[in-house]
Amino acid sequence: MIANNHHSLIALSLIVAVASVLFAFKEEDERFSLEGFTMGTSYQIQLIEVPGEGEPGALAGEVQNMLSRLDRGIFSTYVPGSELSRLNSYEVGKPFTVSQEMLEVLVLAREVFTSTSGAFDPTVGPLVNLWGFGPKDNLPEVSIPNSKDIEEARIRMGFENLMIDENRSQVSKTRDLMIDLSAIAKGYAVDQVSSLLDEWGLESYFIEIGGELKMRGLKGDGSSWVPAIEAPIDQESQVYEIFSSLGQTIAVAGSGDYRNYFEVDGVRYSHEIDPRTGMPIAHALAAAYVIADSAALADALATAYMVMGEELAYLHAEERSIAAFLIVNRGTVFAKSVSSAFKPYLLDQ
Ligand code: ADP
Ligand code: MG
Repeated sequence: MIANNHHSLIALSLIVAVASVLFAFKEEDERFSLEGFTMGTSYQIQLIEVPGEGEPGALAGEVQNMLSRLDRGIFSTYVPGSELSRLNSYEVGKPFTVSQEMLEVLVLAREVFTSTSGAFDPTVGPLVNLWGFGPKDNLPEVSIPNSKDIEEARIRMGFENLMIDENRSQVSKTRDLMIDLSAIAKGYAVDQVSSLLDEWGLESYFIEIGGELKMRGLKGDGSSWVPAIEAPIDQESQVYEIFSSLGQTIAVAGSGDYRNYFEVDGVRYSHEIDPRTGMPIAHALAAAYVIADSAALADALATAYMVMGEELAYLHAEERSIAAFLIVNRGTVFAKSVSSAFKPYLLDQ
């Protein structure tokens, strides 16, 4: 017994040693980078400098812990014990105490739900599952759901059916909702990592989780970060437009119908679903990008814009001075529609 215990101790310390090497920032080209997987996608963080000798490992460990708490602990619909999964299976009408992170995301989600007249609605869960984009699904085997199932799913929807008591940090469902925060949680995770880097006193960094970005300060050579918007095509990654952070702290998020979709008889069914019809979006807007202070807000708005379509999205952005970059499919070519607040960031203006 004792020998066994001893062995497992050695094995454990080896795992810890290997892990800390894997989780440390890599130094390259006068930058430190950290890569990994979270929320069903990859992430990447670049730092121009790290505070103090030997601390990159400690910072990397904090980033990993934070992401795993946000993913597996809170927002995952794949992990049965996550906070969101527990809320989804919780009794209707009974108050459920939420974490600070969950509360912040739900409050912001409610704001975007309201300002987009329900185009952004995290209660689309039942429809997401029905259309085959949910946690248990295997995309190639999807078929088109019948209208009766869609109607049944829609009865369980509507973010107005989630009561949020901010003072008590409690929420309760007035219907059997299935909440899906996939369109905002990645952005929120970017914001959380950004706050952590700020706390570490870092003034220049670039964070990316599954295509949602936040950047601060300048690169090592004193120039601004230059994010690229890719062309809305699924075959390859091609740069469509580049812009500059102008040295500001900005978040950028995008949403598109060109990567996560399935096709039946030549018709494309996107993973952005219009909560008001129960159908995957089907219009000419191929991708929407938003710049905002918060990546969570940018993420939610980008998804809302995909649902709203070109005209309504553009109006929404113009009326509220939101920086939006929309790529519209005009049959044989793509055209861009850029809101006034986005224009200063473009390099060729
Ligand atoms: P990505 O995950 O590719 O960045 P989005 O941010 O647009 O794309 O999130 C899409 C996901 O959000 C879908 O897979 C689905 O889980 C969920 N979703 C789909 N339609 C809506 C909607 N109208 N409102 C809120 N969430 C949605
Ligand atoms: Mg989104």
